[in-house]
Amino acid sequence: SNISTLSQLFALDSLLIPEEIEIRDTVRKFANERIRPHVAEWFESAKLPARELARELGGLGVLGMHLDGYDCAGMSATAYGLACLELEAVDSGIRSLVSVQGSLAMFSIHHWGSEEQKQEWLPRMASGEAIGCFGLTEPDFGSNPAGMRTNAKRDGDDWILNGTKMWITNGSIADVAVVWAQTDEGIRGFVVPTDTPGFSAPEIHSKLSLRASVTSELVFDGVRLPSSAMLPLAKGLRGPLTALGEARFGIIFGAMGAARDCLETAIDYSQTREVFDKPLAAYQLTQAKIADMALEVGKGHLLAYNLGRIKDRGEITPEQVSTGKLNSVREAIAIARECRTILGANGITLEYPVIRHANNLESVLTYEGTSEMHQLTIGKALTGEAAFR
Ligand code: FAD
Repeated sequence: SNISTLSQLFALDSLLIPEEIEIRDTVRKFANERIRPHVAEWFESAKLPARELARELGGLGVLGMHLDGYDCAGMSATAYGLACLELEAVDSGIRSLVSVQGSLAMFSIHHWGSEEQKQEWLPRMASGEAIGCFGLTEPDFGSNPAGMRTNAKRDGDDWILNGTKMWITNGSIADVAVVWAQTDEGIRGFVVPTDTPGFSAPEIHSKLSLRASVTSELVFDGVRLPSSAMLPLAKGLRGPLTALGEARFGIIFGAMGAARDCLETAIDYSQTREVFDKPLAAYQLTQAKIADMALEVGKGHLLAYNLGRIKDRGEITPEQVSTGKLNSVREAIAIARECRTILGANGITLEYPVIRHANNLESVLTYEGTSEMHQLTIGKALTGEAAFR
């Protein structure tokens, strides 16, 4: 297949150990057999069988797969990245479900939570029996979460939570929400069971991107929580930002999956579609497009693998994660659009995955830090000047 040729051009498999290749192939098989046949329909109808899917993904072992203990798989960061890549090769929405569950909600509880919080939630989240979401963004605060208005105030030993979160993946299907709020002691995180009175999560409709993913508002109207609901170890924005670093890492790999799938589709299409009496693949302009895209897909994989190794050594920095996230998503979206041209009119339909990937990647470019915020992070590292404000 053209995937294996692409991989050989960059000798990609030589950088992975057999166990990683096995995990990658297992997730690829699952994604191709269980998700790919249905995903265009889920995208079109904007209906995701999320509960069923979460249990299957839990059975596969990918929910919180890079966390240790509490029934999590305890795999390496690189293995987690490869799983994200294979899931996103099918649809960014499915990878989003897994990222939010494992890297945002479960990671926050695992890293910053009390023993009781971990025991209560992590095993059920690893199996996919319980779904989690992560509420940081608000209607008026996205790139600058420090300004958030959601707040928690003491009432005796309890906390009373008020405010609104926006654009929350898995929001209306979640059993538990990890919510960030202003308190007297600065920004703190809370573990909020979604059946708590005063909590509601209206779904956001009419999206033209990530339609095979649930996105919701979270509304807290005097939600009363016991003092044990606070994540004891997360203080300030470092709490949510550490979790975001985990999810961004998965996107460095994931977006390359979407890019690879577009390129594979475009190569296949170009070999069978005849224009002016010969296959589209036999024209130099087509080959130049394909070769240039292959270079970016290959280089993107090399960067992802390298950052995976650095993360596995526990040495990755936020600037390195920004570099990977910006490069992978920006190249993936450019590749998706270029592949769309190769498919001509067929490229605009859901019969092929390309426009679905292109549209999904619009969200991926914006969430987990917009491409501009990552440029500013890299710019700051290079110049020493913070240009955020
Ligand atoms: P804004 O911050 O308003 O930015 C608008 C534009 O201004 C962008 O281009 C931005 O790059 C640019 N900009 C901002 N600051 C600067 C600056 N200093 N200089 C120059 N340009 C700047 N959030 C969650 O908390 N949990 C979730 O699960 C979640 N899921 C999401 C799912 C989807 C499908 C989407 C689309 C978003 C999701 N988000 C989630 C929210 C996402 O993280 C935010 O949309 C993102 O942080 C950007 O915030 P914003 O949309 O408010 O844009």
